[in-house]
Amino acid sequence: MAELNILQVSPDLHEAQWWEPEPNGRVHCYLCPRHCHIGRGQAGFCFIRTNQEGKLYSLGYGAPAALQIDPIEKKPLNHFLPGSTVFSMGTAGCNMGCFFCQNWDISKSRQDQVSARDVPPKEVPLLALRYGCDSLAFTYNEPTIWGEYIIDICKAAKPYGLKTVMVTNGYITREAFHDIYDNIDAANVDLKAFTENFYGKITLTHLQPVLDTLLLLKRETPVWFELTNLMIPTLNDDPDETRKLADWIAANLGPNIPLHFTAFHPDFKLRDKPRTPRETLDRAREIALDAGLHFVYEGNIYSDAANTYCPGCGSTLIERSWHSVEANRLRQGRCPHCASEIPGVWHKAARHAVED
Ligand code: SF4
Repeated sequence: MAELNILQVSPDLHEAQWWEPEPNGRVHCYLCPRHCHIGRGQAGFCFIRTNQEGKLYSLGYGAPAALQIDPIEKKPLNHFLPGSTVFSMGTAGCNMGCFFCQNWDISKSRQDQVSARDVPPKEVPLLALRYGCDSLAFTYNEPTIWGEYIIDICKAAKPYGLKTVMVTNGYITREAFHDIYDNIDAANVDLKAFTENFYGKITLTHLQPVLDTLLLLKRETPVWFELTNLMIPTLNDDPDETRKLADWIAANLGPNIPLHFTAFHPDFKLRDKPRTPRETLDRAREIALDAGLHFVYEGNIYSDAANTYCPGCGSTLIERSWHSVEANRLRQGRCPHCASEIPGVWHKAARHAVED
């Protein structure tokens, strides 16, 4: 556990949810499958949940370390309000230990190592509306670990008609799942590999809890979700593994879940691997289409596979260049040629006035 230098409980600290006291002043955090048992003055694996005087506090609450306006396609979400902008925010810390993390400057930092701003939940939707955004995204680091803040932001955003998005590794317990996802409209979940060996050695977690989260999303929520598989040369790009991953998605989540194969670039502790070749993404996409998935995308490269094609007649429905939508030919969520219904969330909610 990481040691923090907080000698007394600040009145500004926000008490956490999803914990229980243990003997000798320790606490058990059951927000994610790590189930940290945290001694006094210490923090959990994620750095931002800390035991002060026998209570668990959320250091990320009201203190984002990153705020940015992004295209929704960057999350990536290709079937959710295409062409819209999303107010995106993240904090310090993470509950996974991915060697290839591309946001390691905040995800591997403690709260006191980032320049966080003081942004209460009720200010977040006002900021998003001021910048013309249609939704809010909890992203950059793992949002699950600041779930308390997310729940309060979502409640503040709802009266304004703003949608809410989790960009997540899916590492959350069943105990906390509905508390957070019952407030969420869409998610992109990283399915980082399809072997326990990769999850254990490269992310310091386990595969099965992520699959369990995907099943919960499918079976117990109306959340629109898409999947991302970052392909890292020699670590998770074996065609047999890709086939198993695609078969599992088709069998358990259905053919209409969009799957994004994205290109890796060397970063953080994984600088000895090359960038993902285009051919690897092309091959993975062919395998996933052959497994029956209808919407398979390539990301982090310029590719025609960023477009949305109709699974009924093959016509191009949405043209994209990187994260930019160049043309959207959908009509009321249907193909204009064969009238096939295309799954997704295509229409914005009615907006309500911003109150000063
Ligand atoms: S959310 Fe953080 S403190 Fe809680 S179990 Fe997960 S890693 Fe540990």
